[in-house]
Amino acid sequence: MSKRISLIGVPLDTNSSYMRGAASGASVAVEALSCDSANLWTETGYDMSVVFDDKGLLELSETPEAMALIEQAAVEAGTSDATPIFVGGDHSITYPLVKGMHQAVGEFTVLHFDAHPDCYDEFEGNRYSHASPFSRIMEDGVCSRLVSVGIRTASGHQREQRERFGIEWLEMKDFASWPTLSFDTPVYITFDMDALDPAHAPGVAHHEPGGLSTRQALDIIHAIDAPIIGADVVELNPDRDINGVTGMVAAKIIREIAGMIQKNAR
Ligand code: MN
Ligand code: MN
Repeated sequence: MSKRISLIGVPLDTNSSYMRGAASGASVAVEALSCDSANLWTETGYDMSVVFDDKGLLELSETPEAMALIEQAAVEAGTSDATPIFVGGDHSITYPLVKGMHQAVGEFTVLHFDAHPDCYDEFEGNRYSHASPFSRIMEDGVCSRLVSVGIRTASGHQREQRERFGIEWLEMKDFASWPTLSFDTPVYITFDMDALDPAHAPGVAHHEPGGLSTRQALDIIHAIDAPIIGADVVELNPDRDINGVTGMVAAKIIREIAGMIQKNAR
């Protein structure tokens, strides 16, 4: 019996700092999943066509109440029989998602893919900026461990925040000596598309060269050795995409995470 997976669109980009557009990534990534150019089998041998349940987009207004609505949606999704994969939206959505999932399921590690540490105390006066979700998450103590993979833009302030919160970074400059990750708690994955090199994923607001290939990211996902209680894929910006390639990459990341949810289900 396969585990059901809810696809929940979170079309919010009001906390983006450089440019908006990620809100429309939610529907584009889910549409790419059903593109006739590919099937829904994972590389690991699971048929996702029988487990995906497209829940559509959350209805969100561009007001501070959006964060509370996202948190509530995560509580509901986390207590349902299905495992949620949330599709953003910008990275600000991950704070209310992790907060809600913590209420629903208890302790877990957050495995964070990103070019950026996203742990500014605030950014341009916004404590809920897409550059700040991990400061809020660590202050609230809603994850037991945070591992950020793909980092290559850390400022001095963010290095101080890493020390303050005890965040683990796998930085791109050290790629050749990265350890194999192992987890003694369940895992929540948050995947910022700009973790990937812009050559692989140009449809993002912040082009940061020197990133992961799609293959390298998939290999890390396939090596996860713990149950996956949920995930989000964020920062797909279709306005910046070329021939829809980043939409297809986002769909592939969603599909392979979904396969690992099946594989590692308890
Ligand atoms: Mn991010
Ligand atoms: Mn980023």
